[in-house]
Amino acid sequence: MEIQTLWREVMAGLGGKLSANDVACWAAAIHPRELRGRSLAAEVPSRVHLEQARSRVAPEITSLLRAYLGPDAELVLSVNDGRERPPRATFAGPSPFQGGYTFEQFVVGASNSMAYHSAREVADHPATRYNPLFLYGGVGLGKTHLATAIAHAVWREAPRRRIVLLSAENFTNDLIRAFRGNAPEEFRTRLRRADLLIVDDVQFFAGKERMQEEFFHTFNALHAAQKQIVLASDQPPRNIPNLEERLRNRFESGLITDIRRPDLTLRMAILARKATTLRLELPADVAHLIASKVVSSVRELEGALRRLVAACEIDRRTLDLGFATQILRPLLRAPVPRTLEQVQRLVASRFQVSEADLVCRRRVGRLVVPRQVAMYLARKGTSATYAEIAAGFGGRNHSTVMHAIKVVEGRRAAEPEFAEVLETLESDLQTA
Ligand code: ADP
Ligand code: MG
Repeated sequence: MEIQTLWREVMAGLGGKLSANDVACWAAAIHPRELRGRSLAAEVPSRVHLEQARSRVAPEITSLLRAYLGPDAELVLSVNDGRERPPRATFAGPSPFQGGYTFEQFVVGASNSMAYHSAREVADHPATRYNPLFLYGGVGLGKTHLATAIAHAVWREAPRRRIVLLSAENFTNDLIRAFRGNAPEEFRTRLRRADLLIVDDVQFFAGKERMQEEFFHTFNALHAAQKQIVLASDQPPRNIPNLEERLRNRFESGLITDIRRPDLTLRMAILARKATTLRLELPADVAHLIASKVVSSVRELEGALRRLVAACEIDRRTLDLGFATQILRPLLRAPVPRTLEQVQRLVASRFQVSEADLVCRRRVGRLVVPRQVAMYLARKGTSATYAEIAAGFGGRNHSTVMHAIKVVEGRRAAEPEFAEVLETLESDLQTA
């Protein structure tokens, strides 16, 4: 049997056995290369794909292969790291997108490797596999960087491709302006003619029905025309408050991938890379000090380094641990207790509910989660007692507060996305 025919049969057979997501993300990423006897050699685009494909889809594929080829048939997967790709003509002029936000400048580690490889795949093969690509993660973790890197890479390959990169906020403002000038069609055409549309910070659409409706049509037009769409957000689609169901379904219809906080190893690697870019001689103990204390985002790591560079320049001295500790002290301080009101204000704005609704005793479904989260944060981030929290939420019973905290702790342990939301809130609370 010809290899492509065999592969088509196998892929068709997977439908009933695996989830649609596993098929779309992992099985579809496998490229059969060669059939030698009963061994089918196939390639995947990255190490992450290799791990995921091995654990999620390879067993089913192997059993289907055995049905066609015999009991000792096997699937041999390997990573195609691009070495065999024919060199492509690339465009070397200055790119119109934000300088520095390229794949080359992005340091890859466990917390962002899946997002990085998915983004590369989209840049290499727009609108073939992951459409839309939905990137999400907390503030300052590299979403805008990766989304822009896709634009750079696609542009370098084909500068004539129409690439539109804008934030959801720009989308909103441009559309309002277009309506005011009685020219909404121009705006629509500009977006719908794009070959690649990247919309950053789509959580901004939360609660804006008119914008959601407009974006829904833009999305559909592009998707139907097989154009690549990339979306970035600080929340996964299902946690974006007040997002219309149909738009959420669209957002979820491709590949959703997260960027988590960098672990210590990645923080050290990023610091080393940024220090080189800043031409800063960064002693290992100073790097370790920063990486072990500045944990919540890459943006903060960069901020710490910039501060050191500036301080060294002003004082005309070289960097050592003592000086770094002194300069970074404001960044390295222990968490400051916050007030119950600060927690309530933050949670209300995060979940787009009013503070009044948050603290009242009305039983409304959409208020349950924000209230529980607010009670949890109040307990962890302020010095308020259970009784004080109960009083601060409309005079409830303190067992209600304890229950809420338990629920949130349970979800935090079981749902990585929810844990991410809490982490972001906790760090926002510190800077509130
Ligand atoms: P987000 O959009 O997720 O809030 P950004 O993409 O703006 O975050 O990233 C914040 C800063 O951190 C940017 O300067 C970006 O270049 C840098 N950054 C984030 N992740 C990485 C990474 N893995 N490697 C190098 N720089 C990174
Ligand atoms: Mg951003």
